[in-house]
Amino acid sequence: MDIAALTIDQIREGLHARRFSSAELTTAALKFARNENAQTNAYLTFSEERALATARRVDERLARGEDPGPLAGVPVAVKDVIVTKGVRTTCGSKLLANYVPPYDATAVERLEAAGGVIIGKTNCDEFAMGSSNENSAFGPVRNPHALDRVPGGSSGGSAAAVAQGTAVVALGSDTGGSIRQPASFCGVVGLTPTYGRVSRYGLTAFASSLDHIGPFGRSVRDAALVLSVIAGRDPLDSTSAEAPVPDYLRHLDGEIKGLKLGLPREYLKDLTSETGDLIARAVEKLKRLGCEVRDITLPATDYAIACYYVIATAEASSNLARYDGVRYTSRSASSESLSDMYRNTRGEGFGAECKRRIMLGTYVLSAGYYDAYYLKAQKVRALIARDFTNAFAEVDAIVAPVSPFPAFKIGEKIDDPMAMYLSDIYTITGDLAGIPCMSVPCGKTAQGLPVGMQILAKHFDEARMFRLADAFERAGGAQN
Ligand code: GLN
Repeated sequence: MDIAALTIDQIREGLHARRFSSAELTTAALKFARNENAQTNAYLTFSEERALATARRVDERLARGEDPGPLAGVPVAVKDVIVTKGVRTTCGSKLLANYVPPYDATAVERLEAAGGVIIGKTNCDEFAMGSSNENSAFGPVRNPHALDRVPGGSSGGSAAAVAQGTAVVALGSDTGGSIRQPASFCGVVGLTPTYGRVSRYGLTAFASSLDHIGPFGRSVRDAALVLSVIAGRDPLDSTSAEAPVPDYLRHLDGEIKGLKLGLPREYLKDLTSETGDLIARAVEKLKRLGCEVRDITLPATDYAIACYYVIATAEASSNLARYDGVRYTSRSASSESLSDMYRNTRGEGFGAECKRRIMLGTYVLSAGYYDAYYLKAQKVRALIARDFTNAFAEVDAIVAPVSPFPAFKIGEKIDDPMAMYLSDIYTITGDLAGIPCMSVPCGKTAQGLPVGMQILAKHFDEARMFRLADAFERAGGAQN
């Protein structure tokens, strides 16, 4: 059994044929993951006990002849901003280094109810703020394709775990690109669902109006199956949608002839040449598969980064106020007064990027600046959303690059926040509009670095997005 290449379908067949038990697979997967972790630092915590307990439940159900669920026995990794009962959840922050949550996120509960085996919690940028995983308090993650390079961020650990094969699928979170960009850098499938499609209950809040939970997989099929398990209304998240969840797998029929695709002019400007070449080849491929591709324009794109960094930091400054040394977190040992205690706890606990964002967010919300920055950004957000509404009146889906460049070297951009923020220039717009979008592997650069193609679709139109991505994947990506 080649653990690193297993698919959900193979696991189902293997379990039913009694070639291995869920407990055996889990033990092997944990051992493999621990070994690989020395190279990549993708995991912060292994949840061995919990994983084996789930695996035993799957084996018992199988023995009784019951249906063990669509994800039975599948090793899953979960980004460490998603809470897990009894299993340490750090959010990549020193402040929460010892925090053990008393409850499970809804997505985690649904994964396990479907038989998924959570083997560990993955490294990420502190509170999901970053594009390279270098903002983790527990050290960077190394890209399995090139160990001197970043895996992308902020869900870098989840992307790396799936790429190296230590998990078959993983959960990440995306606020401005944190699923699609690391998926692209690590050569795996990563998907940001429609806002509200997946409950955020138990996802540590960064920017609540932009936060999404979504899956990573090595194939479109695996990612689609995970989404079908975690999606759907949850009374514990008032922003989760009532919309019915289709059977996504039924839509993976390869039928994409006649699909109308838009290629946004604004997304092709700042590409490094190799990424641009791969996207151009992908577009040619899609045309050969029968899609009709036309140029479109999303004119408000130029304002997306500025708009995002006003709204996201504003919401973050408010959400991070709860880490005060009284609840959840460790407390500074050296304080004489209450206000000193707050100041010292937060001063010692937060890393530089979180502090930068708390300051910026507090500033844009402050009296006198609120109208000029925050309110203005909300208006720009509406324009960005309107661009997509107009585009989808003409086309069925949009194809674009995920990131202007492939994985960069560890250390290369960490001292230049503005250069780092540009990593997300093509992904931020989808979050601002709340539409579903994904990264599907497209090919590799001459140096062997993966490049992803992005697909964006209408609200709640994940099924069509999956169908397109799956047909592209079956046809071998951008390769001839
Ligand atoms: N890289 C972006 C940021 O730093 C997006 C992060 C995310 O999607 N969580 O905010």
